[in-house]
Amino acid sequence: MTDPHIQPIKVLSDNYTYIIRLDNEGFTAVVDPATVAEPVEAIEAGGGRLDVILNTHHHHDHIGGNAALKARYGATVIGPEADRGRIPELDRGVRDGDRVALGPLTVEVMATPGHTAGHVSFYLPDAGALFAGDTLFSLGCGRLFEGTPAQMWRSLERLRALPGATRLYCGHEYSQSNAAFALSIDPDNPALQRRAAEITALRRDGRPTLPVPLATEAAANPFLRADDPGLAAAIGRAGADPVTVFADLRRRKDRF
Ligand code: ZN
Ligand code: FE
Repeated sequence: MTDPHIQPIKVLSDNYTYIIRLDNEGFTAVVDPATVAEPVEAIEAGGGRLDVILNTHHHHDHIGGNAALKARYGATVIGPEADRGRIPELDRGVRDGDRVALGPLTVEVMATPGHTAGHVSFYLPDAGALFAGDTLFSLGCGRLFEGTPAQMWRSLERLRALPGATRLYCGHEYSQSNAAFALSIDPDNPALQRRAAEITALRRDGRPTLPVPLATEAAANPFLRADDPGLAAAIGRAGADPVTVFADLRRRKDRF
């Protein structure tokens, strides 16, 4: 198995762009390039090659580097077909269930609507990695700009069902503020307490809080626990269905 090197690059105020590099092959991909200068620096340091640009969704802080990076390196832009009109330089539109080759690695495309209608996540089973854009954050999830709570809950359930060892790479460094909200909802959850302490320590050292195993998120992230009876009870919604609990959590977070 070719183990890719995955490098987070912090851009703008709190975005992550990721470089995926397969050293044996020289193959390089970038996920959600918001900007140009920072990915170019990383690409040049790694051999000056860029084969593929992957976009999770159309927001400017995930696509801003597309045109310049494509022009400079001739990379193929891959993103949601549903957003063809909103993703600059899109070459290959993908849908749920599509498979994309990154050199010897396979990317499985998962439609994860909710934050935006066309949002997709990229799952690399061989690498045990998930690029979830603004669908799933550590201890949080994306705001519902274009989707319903039912759509977002379904998206999160599907991501949660991936193998627990899968490492989550998400679009923003929101972990610290997400932890504060999560602890306000679910203060006695030991998995959440452990993850929050880890986040505090990483941020104190100025380090990224990503990646994180999905199993950790499944136990600690309240937005992945909307079907847990204890969590429903904690927000005064004992017996409510998960979509109702999720929608309530999301509304509370919007106001937090
Ligand atoms: Zn976004
Ligand atoms: Fe974003």
